[in-house]
Amino acid sequence: MSETVAGGVLVVVEGVDGAGKSTVLRRLVEFCEARHLRCVLSREPTDGPWGKRIRGTAETGRLPLAEELELFIRDRKEHVESLILPEMARGAVVLLDRYYFSTAAYQGARGANPEEVLAANEQFAPEPDLVLLLDCAPEVTLERIRKRGSVPDEFERQEALEAVRRIFLSIKRPFIRVVDASAVAETVAEKCESLLEEILIGKA
Ligand code: ADP
Ligand code: MG
Repeated sequence: MSETVAGGVLVVVEGVDGAGKSTVLRRLVEFCEARHLRCVLSREPTDGPWGKRIRGTAETGRLPLAEELELFIRDRKEHVESLILPEMARGAVVLLDRYYFSTAAYQGARGANPEEVLAANEQFAPEPDLVLLLDCAPEVTLERIRKRGSVPDEFERQEALEAVRRIFLSIKRPFIRVVDASAVAETVAEKCESLLEEILIGKA
């Protein structure tokens, strides 16, 4: 039997590619499983039709900004309706690898107004209980991506990443916790686990 939390818990992990989101999320899944909590891991862009189109543009070339923003909104609306809200209603801990803060930061770096992007998303996307913003210098994250054996894609060019990082750090919301992601992975994971634990205690 898995334990549930009334109304669910929405936890988002944000940060640039190579910041350590997947690594932290694996630990948060284990953390929930060890406590027998119902937990669902998902990501944005999603694996649905809109999300696949966005992911495709990392290889085929970026779309014009307005079209790109529109695709992110469509993808997220579907994600909210089909997974995020239903799972929260079932009392799950919903763990997201990226959410609308990434849209504000990445599309903001291309010229969109980050506050406008946030406002448009906040009209339909549920507010997270916790955003773990994994903050790390682009030189470090790009080196990790190369070590991981991948090649940085169109979304991850260094000049743009500096701007993405600045915008992420400029977003002020009470549920955002900035975590120093340049620390060793174990330290980052422990910090994130303890922040999640605080939220769970607050909901108990
Ligand atoms: P993301 O999901 O944000 O792109 P990953 O979790 O895939 O990042 O991590 C990118 C690479 O860096 C992986 O090879 C991972 O093992 C490594 N890594 C993750 N966190 C750390 C850390 N804190 N210190 C050093 N390397 C890390
Ligand atoms: Mg990842």
